[in-house]
Amino acid sequence: MGLHDVKKTEPSPTTQRVVKIEKFPSEISMSGWFATLPNVSLAPSLKGRVEADWVIIGGGWFGVNAARRIAELRGQDGVILLDAGAIGNNAAGRCAGYAIDLAHNPRNANFAEDEQGNIDERDINVEGINYLRDGLQRYNIQCDWSEEGKTHAAVTDRGEACLTTFAQALDRIGVKYEWYNQAQMREMVGSKYYTLGLHTPGTVLLQPAAMLRGIAANLGNNATVYENSPVVEIRYGSPWHVVRTANGEVHARNVILANNGFISQFGFYEHSAIPVYTYASMTRPLTVAEIAKIGGRNTWGLIPAESFGTTVRRTADNRLFIRNIYDYADGFHTTQPQLERAKRSHQKSFDRRFPEISHIGFEHTWGGALSLAQNGGTVFGQLGDRVFGAAFCNGTGVSKGAIFGKSIAELACGQDSKAIRILKNKARPSRAYPKIITSLGVKWSTRYRLWKAGLEV
Ligand SMILES: Cc1cc2nc3c(=O)[nH]c(=O)nc-3n(C[C@H](O)[C@H](O)[C@H](O)COP(=O)(O)OP(=O)(O)OC[C@H]3O[C@@H](n4cnc5c(N)ncnc54)[C@H](O)[C@@H]3O)c2cc1C
Repeated sequence: MGLHDVKKTEPSPTTQRVVKIEKFPSEISMSGWFATLPNVSLAPSLKGRVEADWVIIGGGWFGVNAARRIAELRGQDGVILLDAGAIGNNAAGRCAGYAIDLAHNPRNANFAEDEQGNIDERDINVEGINYLRDGLQRYNIQCDWSEEGKTHAAVTDRGEACLTTFAQALDRIGVKYEWYNQAQMREMVGSKYYTLGLHTPGTVLLQPAAMLRGIAANLGNNATVYENSPVVEIRYGSPWHVVRTANGEVHARNVILANNGFISQFGFYEHSAIPVYTYASMTRPLTVAEIAKIGGRNTWGLIPAESFGTTVRRTADNRLFIRNIYDYADGFHTTQPQLERAKRSHQKSFDRRFPEISHIGFEHTWGGALSLAQNGGTVFGQLGDRVFGAAFCNGTGVSKGAIFGKSIAELACGQDSKAIRILKNKARPSRAYPKIITSLGVKWSTRYRLWKAGLEV
C-alpha cells in the first residue's frame, strides 16, 4: 500500500484537524516489575518546541518497537518517543511477562474455524519474539529472558477438558507439546494443586519493565525519549503535525500512534475501545527456608487452562506472581475497591496453591489496561496523511506489540513484508455497543466466567 492508499475500512485522511485529548492514562498502583527495577532514571518530560521527522506516541510494546525500528531504518531522521507516564509502568510493564508464540485462543472450541489465521498469528508472534531477542542480544538488556515456554495448567475436570481441546487444536497446526501429570506439575511448581499440565515450548518469560526500558534506552543517537509527557492536543497538518503537551510541542513530519485504547482520543476508532482491567500481585523474594518448604524449579510460567483462571509465575528473583480478575474499567481507570477485590482474589489463589507460605502476602498489587474491540480487531496501518497507527492489544501485547511496532515502522518507511501483509488483512476494531450495554455486559460476563472457572482461579 502506498502512503496515500488508505484502506476503505480505516478512517479518512486527517489534514488540518485539531483534536483535544480528554482522557489520559492514570494509575492508582505501581507495577511490581517497575517498582523492583534497580536504578531507574526517567527520561525528561518535554519542554519547549522541538522538531522531528517522526514522533511515536506511546511507550508500550507497540511504541518502543516502532520507535526502535524507525530509528534503525532512518538513521538520518530525528525520532521522538513520547509517553504520558513512565515506560515500564504502563500497561505493557504491568503484564505477566509472557512473550507468547501461540495465542491462548487455540483453547477455544471454535479455533479450527480459523486455522490459517492462527498459524499466521503464530508466525508473526515468533517474528516479534525474534525482534525482541535481537534487541536483547544487541543491547545486552538484563530482563531475566528465559526461553522456557509456558505450561497450561488444570485443576478440575473442566480444566482438563480445556487442555484436551487445546491439544487437539495444536495437533491440527502441527505444534509440539508435552503433557505433565500431577507429579510432574508438583516437581515443577512445588504445589500439589495442579492435576494436569500441557507444556508448549515457544514462549519466552521476561521481566517486562526491564525489557521495555532496555529497548527505550537503546534507540540510538537519532532518537529522543520523553516521559511524563501526556499529549494534550494534536494538530494534524502539513507539512508538520503538531503534538502538544503541557509544556512543549513536537513538530513532526510523521506520527505513529501506538497508544493502545487511547488512540480513540486521537480521533480514530472513537467508539471501539472496550476498557477492561486485569490485575496482578507479586510477593517479596522468597527466603531460602520458604523455597525449601515448597520446592519446585527456580522459574516457571503457568497459564490457566480455563481463560478466567489464574496465571502464576515464579520469577528469576524468587518471587511468586499471580494474575486473575478481569473487570470493566470506566474511562480506562481502575478504582481502589476494584484493586482491593483483585488482591483478595490473588490471596485466595495463593492460599490454594501454596498454603505453607501464603501468609507472607504480597509486596505489590496492581492493575493494567487491556484494550479490547468487540470483534477482536486491531489497528494497523495508515490512518491519514503521514499518520500511522498500531494499537488495540486485545489482551496480549508482548510479542504482538513487537511485531506490530516493527511492522508499522516498516510500512511507514514504504517497505513490504509477509508480516505487514498479514497485519493489514486483520479485522479493524468494530464499533462497540453503547457504553451502558458494554459496561453491564463486561461486568456480568466477567463475574459469571470467574464463577464458572471455580477452582481454576
Ligand atoms: C496484569 C496484566 C498481565 C498481562 N500479561 C500479558 C502477558 O503475559 N503477555 C502479553 O502478551 N500480554 C499481557 N498483557 C497485555 C499487555 O500488557 C498489553 O497487551 C500491552 O501492554 C499492550 O501494549 P501497548 O503498547 O499497546 O499498550 P500500553 O502498554 O497501554 O502502551 C500505550 C502507551 O500509550 C501511552 N499514552 C496513552 N495516551 C497518551 C497520551 N495522551 N500522551 C502520551 N502517551 C499516551 C500510555 O502512557 C502507554 O504507555 C497483560 C496485561 C495486564 C494488565
